[in-house]
Amino acid sequence: MKTIKELDIENKKVIIRCDFNVPIKEGKIVDDTRIVAALETIKYCLEKNAKVILLSHLGRIKEKEDLAKNDLSPVANRLSELLKKDVLFVEKTRGDELEAVVESMEPGDVLLLQNTRYEDLDGKKESSNDEELGAYWASLGDVFVNDAFGTIHRAHASNVGIASHLPSAVGFLIEKELNALSVLENPEHPFIVILGGAKVADKIGVIENLVTKADKILIGGGMAFTFLKAKGLEIGNSLLDEENLDFCRKMLEEYGDKIVLPVDFAVSKECNNEGEYVVKNIKDFQEDDMGLDIGDQTVAFFKEVISDAAIVIWNGPLGVYELEKYKKNTDELLKFIVDNQIKTILGGGDIVAAASAAGFKDKVYHASTGGGATLEYLEGKKLPGLEAIK
Ligand code: AMP
Repeated sequence: MKTIKELDIENKKVIIRCDFNVPIKEGKIVDDTRIVAALETIKYCLEKNAKVILLSHLGRIKEKEDLAKNDLSPVANRLSELLKKDVLFVEKTRGDELEAVVESMEPGDVLLLQNTRYEDLDGKKESSNDEELGAYWASLGDVFVNDAFGTIHRAHASNVGIASHLPSAVGFLIEKELNALSVLENPEHPFIVILGGAKVADKIGVIENLVTKADKILIGGGMAFTFLKAKGLEIGNSLLDEENLDFCRKMLEEYGDKIVLPVDFAVSKECNNEGEYVVKNIKDFQEDDMGLDIGDQTVAFFKEVISDAAIVIWNGPLGVYELEKYKKNTDELLKFIVDNQIKTILGGGDIVAAASAAGFKDKVYHASTGGGATLEYLEGKKLPGLEAIK
């Protein structure tokens, strides 16, 4: 993969696709992590006297009312504070004004365009990788750097479109993600996978791709119950993904020695913080029981399995971690990993949010920011945003 250091950017107009998809409430940025994360690539380009042209999406644009809500100008202001220099902002994604500003840029100038998804209002031009739009954005610069890992699994005009017209490379953020995730291509052993979250359906691709590579797959969260039901156990009112019972049965038949299921759960009659819970063995489940977190025996066993792991990849929380009562054992296992410095990659989405809330995110080997992109990487799929750069 060509990286930014291999790209000639000296004095060039460099288009950088960033991920500035930050939470904004009433015009104020609630969390600027993604803007801070983009600084390394931007500053590197500025050191090389580049004219820096930034693009990013923000939220989704389906109708006119979405435009004002997803205006990127607060990002330009925050970026200006962080870089301690002016950041030019053009409220449009194309047109004479934009072209004039680009034309007038000096080396060391930074320009941010309006939200790329403003182009989705008229025929989803950004999200469907409209040929003309990609070519137009590419015409604004000399080279292209993609540093938005979160959209790398999508073919959009602002990543794949531009990359197909200009010399291109990935920025430092994507490089870091790929370096961390690439250990899974040829993993050291024991290689342990932990999977949680709600539905089996969302994780089928990951299970199929990793089950042959991993030494063990530990399954928790709501998805464990479909596997347990497939074994003929009573799961009460716990989450069931009926359509994928056969898939689970097949996996257990073929890889029964690798797939490790919970033996006990925190069980309640209702899924909220008010109801009481008891910890129960799966064999004691009654019809109205609902398993909402893995139990203590299961955590102890999961700890034992991962304690001598060479590498662990973990996707999905092991319980309903949004509820104070049922995040206990997800946090407990995260703490064990951090305390024992077990080389662990948190594979995006909810588990990264859980780790962040518990203060462990920056203490693990790697917390992937990608969400859907990370999941598709783990499924072994080709990522269009990367293919375009290759
Ligand atoms: P995912 O996006 O697939 O990683 O799923 C994350 C969601 O799974 C979170 O919202 C959790 O609340 C949910 N989840 C985890 N464990 C359970 C469980 N035992 N029962 C119901 N939902 C769960």
